[in-house]
Amino acid sequence: MPIMDLTDPQARQEAYARTVDVVAWLVILLGASVMLGWSIHNQWLIRGVQGYVTMNPLSAVCFIACGVALLLVHSTSPRKREIGAALAGFAFLMGAWLLVSNIFDLEPTPDHILFPRSVMALNPVSVMHHSTAFGVLLASSAIFILGLRKSGYQNQAQYLALALGVIALFATVGYSYGAGLNAKLNPLTLPSLHTALGFILLSIGILASVPHASLMAVLLSRDDTGRIFRLMIAAAILIPGILGWLCIRLDESGYIGFKTAETLVTTWSMLQLLLLTFITVQVMYKKSVERHRHLAESKAAQERLSGILSIAGEAIISVDADQRITLFNACAEQTFGYASDEIVGKPLQALLPDQAGPKRAHGGILNSASGEAVVGKRCEIDARRKNGEIFPAAVSISQLELGRDKIGTLVLRDLTEQHRNAQALIEEKNKAEAAMRAETEFLANMSHEIRTPLNSISGFTQLLLQRSDLPSEPQAHVKKIRNATSALISIVNDILDYSKLETSDVALSPVPMSPFQLANNCVSIVSSIADLKRIPIRIQIDPGLDAQFFQGDPYRIQQIMLNLLSNALKFTDEGGVTILIEDETPASSDPAWLRVSVRDTGIGIPHDRLDRLFQRFSQVDGSLSRSYDGSGLGLAICKRLVAIMDGEIGVNSTPGEGSTFWFRLPLPRAPAPIAQVPSDGEQKISANPRSILLVEDVELNQEIAIAMLSGAGHKVDVASNGAVAIEMVDAAKYDLVLMDIQMPVMDGVTAAKKIRQMNSGVADIPIVALTANVLPDEVARFYAAGMSAHLRKPVDCGELLNIVQKQTRPNHTRLSGALASHEVAHAIEP
Ligand code: ADP
Repeated sequence: MPIMDLTDPQARQEAYARTVDVVAWLVILLGASVMLGWSIHNQWLIRGVQGYVTMNPLSAVCFIACGVALLLVHSTSPRKREIGAALAGFAFLMGAWLLVSNIFDLEPTPDHILFPRSVMALNPVSVMHHSTAFGVLLASSAIFILGLRKSGYQNQAQYLALALGVIALFATVGYSYGAGLNAKLNPLTLPSLHTALGFILLSIGILASVPHASLMAVLLSRDDTGRIFRLMIAAAILIPGILGWLCIRLDESGYIGFKTAETLVTTWSMLQLLLLTFITVQVMYKKSVERHRHLAESKAAQERLSGILSIAGEAIISVDADQRITLFNACAEQTFGYASDEIVGKPLQALLPDQAGPKRAHGGILNSASGEAVVGKRCEIDARRKNGEIFPAAVSISQLELGRDKIGTLVLRDLTEQHRNAQALIEEKNKAEAAMRAETEFLANMSHEIRTPLNSISGFTQLLLQRSDLPSEPQAHVKKIRNATSALISIVNDILDYSKLETSDVALSPVPMSPFQLANNCVSIVSSIADLKRIPIRIQIDPGLDAQFFQGDPYRIQQIMLNLLSNALKFTDEGGVTILIEDETPASSDPAWLRVSVRDTGIGIPHDRLDRLFQRFSQVDGSLSRSYDGSGLGLAICKRLVAIMDGEIGVNSTPGEGSTFWFRLPLPRAPAPIAQVPSDGEQKISANPRSILLVEDVELNQEIAIAMLSGAGHKVDVASNGAVAIEMVDAAKYDLVLMDIQMPVMDGVTAAKKIRQMNSGVADIPIVALTANVLPDEVARFYAAGMSAHLRKPVDCGELLNIVQKQTRPNHTRLSGALASHEVAHAIEP
């Protein structure tokens, strides 16, 4: 029987099956040849050697039946297995009949019935001996059991086959020692030589059918136990066998006497036993040493593991399949307040809040500890300390299968501190937000409060300058007041703008816009200053870019351009200023990258000051004796705006030669808008007289607005608050309402809402917010209330007339918030 490689059970199984088949066919062949021997009276075929016992023909039939049965009981077809079992049953019946008739000397025996002629033909009379009949019984029962395949069948078949083997062994030894010739007297050789061979084959075939039976599994195993077992069996059979044979031969030869030979055999047998014992003990000792080494190693590993567990920074808890705690490390002791001895063996539930308890469910954890659900995931749960305190914890669960055991391990971290910190952070954030809200409110109030008196100063100055009868000296003074007021307004605007950018998220309003148009707007805004200083401004643009539109916030981009352009003019006394617009888009990239540079031939900036320029309140010359005024906020605002638009800003400069301030922005290309809002430069103040209702509570402001509007030919009525305005709008037909916001009795927002709810003839009237409230949130509120546009105070006469003109155009539709704010924004630049 081949010893198969245990690592390939499939091949091993196939080899056993092949062995069974080969052996079964040999048995059939043996039976058939004996039958042939009987029919042709061939002595060799029926007894092997003259004088030996013959194989009874019935025995041959039983061998054929057993061989075929052995083949069939392994078949996958139930029908064939049934036939196999029937054949085994037949052999069993024959064996049993013969045994009974032999023991009780009953007639007729089945061989007399089946084969009388051949049986009678021999001398001595050939009968199936009861040892053969017993062997047939053993073999047929074993084969029958194989066919049943019931539990434990392997071991039963194995023992029957071994018993059969013992009968065969006796006969084989008997024949090999020459006891067969004296068959009548020798009980060993009563089965024929062929029968002994047949039993050996059947025994091998049956054992090969049950390789997993208890003894067979050991015999076939490839480990040391299997090796020793095989060695001992071989030694136990071969050495006494060979020695016994030798002893007989020596005795027969007359060289040494039987006693001497027997002594030699006995001594050799002792030696053999001693040798086997020595080998066995040696192997066992080696095994025992190995086991001790493994034990020591596993103990050391266990100690290392417990060391690691004890210093682990997270609580580690193991549970068995019944959710009972089996391991509780030092960190777990600290976290939960239980000593390990106290909690090990208790259910995991002891560490968790009651199921009915508040907050998160932890049924999943329990399931997963036993092997299902959330194994491998990290989740947050509520856990319970010994003192009953419930605390948040992050837990991850892993599962290990050891044989049939499932071990769940929870690694748990106490999140109490983390939650406390998070709570503190939330509180800090709330405080910061409250502070920011307070700051925003403060800004709004300050803005309003500063702008209201500034409105009077600016307004009256403009009115004074419109007078032609003013002597030249006072006129020069008034001009200086106007310039100072403009500077003050610009500073107030910068401060407010910067604060807005710092404290709030600035929402961009991207629309299709032309950079070329924005540059033109900027130039027209600063043209009076440029003319005054005699500094030419050029716009240089990449070919084709002048007709190109991009998706961007025109108000914010123009704000940056204008800031850089105003600075360039401010710090340049001779030469010129160039606005350079370039397309810097890398090949096949979207969005496009637009670069705008403002190059001047002014005073330039020393290298060591360049890096601080974009910080707030940073000025190259911050001395008391500086020649250029300004807040030092413009570039900081530009930098923030460029950052919001994901762009870059920078400067190159040489003192005495000039500076180039540049910024680049990623802007998707856009199609040209269908209807363009005309730029300010295109606006012409109309002399078309309009009927306007001015809603304003402050008399000074009323006076200014009336003077500006009536000076342009418009007819102006005044309402001192929102409630009066509603009545007047209802009573008379106006082309436009100019609405202040903060007023007694009824504010402008409420009034605008009410007007929008009035009957259709009135509800559509354009309402322009004319107010010192300029923060983005406030402006958004005005539009939400239904206002058409927003004009901030201090009011500029040109802007006021411009917006009246636009809002009262016959085909003018009310603008949506975002677009309208741009329209207004263009108009309000100083
Ligand atoms: P300011 O209101 O003071 O102009 P900015 O932030 O716009 O504030 O500019 C900060 C400083 O950068 C200026 O005070 C000036 O010293 C310097 N600066 C800005 N632009 C130029 C320029 N084109 N040429 C020379 N210096 C400049």
